[in-house]
Amino acid sequence: MFVNGVWEKGVRGETFQVLNPATGEVLADVADCNQEDARRAIEVAHASFPEWASLTAYERSRVLYKAHQLMLERREQLARVMTQEQGKPLRAALNEVGYGADFLLWYAEEAKRIYGETIPAPRAGQRFIVAYQPIGVVAAITPWNYPASMITRKVAPALAAGCTLVLKPAESTPLCAIEIFKILEEAGVPSGVINLVTASDPRPIGEEFVTNPLVRKITFTGSTATGKLLGSGAGAHVKRVSMELGGHAPFLVLKDADPIHAAKGAGLVKFLNTGQACICPNRFLVHDSLVEAFTNELVSRVQKLQAGNGLKPGIAIGPLVNLKAVDKVERQVHEALSKGAQLLTGGQRLTEGQLSNGFFYAPTVLGGVTPEMLIYREETFGPVAPIIPFSDDDDFLAMANDTDYGLAAYVYTQNLAAAMKTFEGLQFGIIGINDINPTAAAVPFGGIKESGLGREGGREGLQDYLETKIGGFAI
Ligand code: NAP
Repeated sequence: MFVNGVWEKGVRGETFQVLNPATGEVLADVADCNQEDARRAIEVAHASFPEWASLTAYERSRVLYKAHQLMLERREQLARVMTQEQGKPLRAALNEVGYGADFLLWYAEEAKRIYGETIPAPRAGQRFIVAYQPIGVVAAITPWNYPASMITRKVAPALAAGCTLVLKPAESTPLCAIEIFKILEEAGVPSGVINLVTASDPRPIGEEFVTNPLVRKITFTGSTATGKLLGSGAGAHVKRVSMELGGHAPFLVLKDADPIHAAKGAGLVKFLNTGQACICPNRFLVHDSLVEAFTNELVSRVQKLQAGNGLKPGIAIGPLVNLKAVDKVERQVHEALSKGAQLLTGGQRLTEGQLSNGFFYAPTVLGGVTPEMLIYREETFGPVAPIIPFSDDDDFLAMANDTDYGLAAYVYTQNLAAAMKTFEGLQFGIIGINDINPTAAAVPFGGIKESGLGREGGREGLQDYLETKIGGFAI
């Protein structure tokens, strides 16, 4: 753990192992912290808040610029750590480090743009001003699937705003968190401003985050189930929350789309991170006139994807995070097949040769998927593309919106009016129109319905770390 500028093992002195999901090898032992450690980290963050908050925006900005520069300098090293502990192919890891660094740069710039306002008053002799001030101590919890960028997406705006922070990273990916904290420390973040608590059991840490009155905001990225638990706990203590939760993205191929281009996009975005991204499509809704062309192209692309250790060149499919994740994918595929879906490619665990040591599942395409199947509603978080044909008689918007989630959606069409109507009608926070990567540090990322609360990135991502204060002046 990293508390008050010191790397240590926590009160119990215990550790837990970090494994490589591609090989099963032990990569490192890290501190296994408990509730007492979390409490101490929060107290340190609280004590460090006044000084950090009182620095000028220019001073805070300089630290973030330096961190951005260091993160890019260490891109290769950080990416290798990520591939080893998380499994994604090295090229994808390099991309993620770049995306993660973008947040440091964006918020280094935005730190200087926390503008207030003056508002005309209704009474003579009265003036109103609006000022934005940092919330205070932020408790952050991040997932394993994007183990670097999910951290900088929270830490950079928190620091830009003048907040101090305690982070608990996912149990399976603490090594990226440790590397990022070393970068921030070296960039000049003062002792106590950022604190890291690694733990094998997240519950006592979450309990402390939610109940400790010194914590003013919880920012969480992870599953909807955990988000509900933390959100309801935070609500009982009237703490601010930001929640980036699960998704079940529809990928619409409308009748005037180019099915080959759409299949290319589908192959790339579905199998990104082996399907373990919150914005991965989970339902491919394809107009029946294009199903054959779309499916043939997608299947032929998927059959070329090579699974293996992400450090080897040419690997496109890394392992799933653990055995439980493989079991979930297998259960969804078997259930869909038992209810009449067609297996078009894949559909089994990969256990040959060196793959036997890791958690691999073949990239899979299913045809004829229907609403009765689990995969139609449950987030898969694995490499399975379920195709659902629709006809002119079907209301494809209603089908796309038929989910409790509302994070990302994708639309392929060459008709401008259809693109605009679909964009407006989709109940999702992030919509790609002929675009499979509708994200960037400069734009707000987040979902509606059970996919979350608040936004990260962009101007809105900074506002979430600020309190609004108004002053009424009688003169
Ligand atoms: P998860 O099981 O909810 O875990 C996320 C984080 O919460 C981990 O650090 C986990 O710790 C911690 N956690 C779990 N139970 C907790 C508790 N009771 N108190 C405090 N912390 C607790 O989610 P995941 O499986 O790691 O991540 C995958 C999910 O994240 C998917 O649903 C995906 O869609 C979503 N996601 C959303 C976004 C977004 O921006 N909307 C981005 C990425 C991922 P441990 O690791 O120690 O269990």
